Parts: sequence; structure tokens; C-alpha cells
Amino acid sequence: MLISIVAPCYNEEDVIERFHDQVQKVAEELLPLGHDMEFVYVDDGSRDRTLAALERLAGRDARVRYVSFSRNFGKEAALLAGLRHASGDSVIVMDADLQHPPELIKRMVDLRKEGYDQVIAKRTRTGDRMTRTVTARLYYRLINRLVDVELVDGVGDFRLMSRRVVDAVLELTEYNRFSKGLFAWVGFPSTTFEYENAVREAGRSSWNLRSLLNYGIDGLLSFNNRPLRLALYLGMGLLLCAVLYTAWIVGAALVNGVQTPGYVTIITAVTGVAGVQMIMLGVIGEYTGRIYYEVKRRPHFLVKASNVDRAKDLIP
Ligand code: UDP
Ligand code: MG
Repeated sequence: MLISIVAPCYNEEDVIERFHDQVQKVAEELLPLGHDMEFVYVDDGSRDRTLAALERLAGRDARVRYVSFSRNFGKEAALLAGLRHASGDSVIVMDADLQHPPELIKRMVDLRKEGYDQVIAKRTRTGDRMTRTVTARLYYRLINRLVDVELVDGVGDFRLMSRRVVDAVLELTEYNRFSKGLFAWVGFPSTTFEYENAVREAGRSSWNLRSLLNYGIDGLLSFNNRPLRLALYLGMGLLLCAVLYTAWIVGAALVNGVQTPGYVTIITAVTGVAGVQMIMLGVIGEYTGRIYYEVKRRPHFLVKASNVDRAKDLIP
């Protein structure tokens, strides 16, 4: 059985060789059990010497494939490229920054043998800041009400997938890729195990508050049109309130005669309704924007250098 390791690398020159040494050690342990391994590294337009490091690795180890993007296209694009070039019967996707412990690979392979198509490693949140832990918890509670697939906190891009799962994921050619949801959408028998989160060894995380927020919004909007449905309900609710309030005002005028004060009511109503309308326009705009990106059908990434079969980059 051939196992492919797929790792996206963005500015990982400090760790990529150490990463390769560690997975390669695991590969040696798996070889007697009848498992071959190949490594697919995707340089996501790094600004440092990650590409040079990958070329060096490929020169040293014939099992190393690498693809280097013309610029930074994002981790999702890098994952897609990696999956396209992986030819294994099982594919393991993991981060190159050693936050996904390579020694867990054996455990994943064992669980795969038990018949699971997806073996998912779930990280604990030890070492994370309190604020991030709490916001994550709230976010997942909210999002699971809105999307159809179940998204779990701590479950990310460290997982083993069988060939049929990888093929299914590759069939999903959408431009806006929210991998976490795509993997969940595909389904097939899956199992999850937990591991202790490792703190980044070198380099730095590319997440900041803004990118986290954007990621959150992506998750909310990339699965269905339930937020639009929400807009519909909210609109109906507002209309009902308006009708009741108007009836109340008219009734009061009939009983007590016309009284004009109401400055505060008017300001509240106008700004409140305007705010809700803006949000809903934003939601509609988001969906339209997504359609705009999808219809352009641009490639997900452009390749600058690689030692792989370029034909696979061109699959829609
Ligand atoms: N990564 C990437 N492209 C990007 C950002 C990140 O390929 O634009 C890679 C990065 O090299 C690492 C993985 O994605 O292997 C996870 O990134 P990071 O460690 O920054 O995220 P975190 O672990 O904080 O979620
Ligand atoms: Mg990381």
C-alpha cells in the first residue's frame, strides 16, 4: 500500500527539513509492514527559501514531489494541489510546521486498516489563548446550527483519507474552498482521535484576527443558503412588529387625539431597520460575490516550478 504525505508549506524554510526527517523516520518504520511512502510538498509562494529546501530534499530523496506556486494562493489551494499530485492508496494531509506530530501517522494507518475511510486527528486547545478557545467554542455552536455538515472544533487538516475520499474531494471543484467543510461533506466511514496540541517550533502562524474572522464567515456561507433564509424570517419579523406598532399608534390617536412627539421612535426605527437591511444586503452580496468568483473559472493556483506531472495541475 502506498501512503502519500501532503504538506502545504508557506515560509517554512526553518522546519521543512526537520519535518521531512521526522516523517521519513516514520516511513522507515512502516516499510517492513508493507507500506511505501511518498511525499508531496506544496510551496505556497513562500517569501523565504522554502523552494530551495524542497529542491534539495527532492535531490536527496526520490520519493519527494514538490510543487511551487507563482505566488501565495492560500493553504486551501496548496492542499488541492497536493491532493491532485498524491497517488497513494491513502493520503495523509498535515501541516509542515511540526504542529501535527508525525508519530501519529502509524496510529492513522492502523485505524485505516480497521476499515475507516477518514481518520481524523482532533487537537486539544492546550497552549491556546483563553479568548481564542472561548470564541472558537461559541463559533462552532453557532455554525453547526447553520450549516448542514457537522464541523468540529480542533478538527482540521490533519487527517488520513482513503483513495475514494480523495477522489471525491477532487470532484468538488469549487473556487472558494473551505476544506474542513468539504472533507465533512464527503462523508464515508470516519473516526476521530484526540492528540495534545504542539506549540509551533519555528516560523510564525499566518493567522490574525482578520483572517480568522474571514475564515469564520467563509464557513458560514460556503455550504447552503440558510443565512438568506434567516434574512427572510428577520424581514417578516420586522414587518410584523411594524404592523403591530402602527396599529397601536393609530389606535392611540383615535382614542387620545393626534400627538406628534416621537423623535426617538423614528430615529430608532430608521437606524435599526437600515442596519438590518445593510447586513442582509451584505449577505446577498457575499453570495453574489461567490457566484462571480465561481463563474470566472480561474485556476486555483499557478505553478512556478515542480518535479511532477504538470498535466494534473490543469484538471478543472
Ligand atoms: N500555509 C500555506 N499557505 C498559507 C498559510 C499557511 O500553505 O497561506 C501552510 C503552513 O505552511 C502550514 C499550514 O499551512 O504548513 C498551517 O499554517 P499555520 O501554521 O500558519 O496555521 P495554524 O497552525 O496556526 O492554524
Ligand atoms: Mg501551524
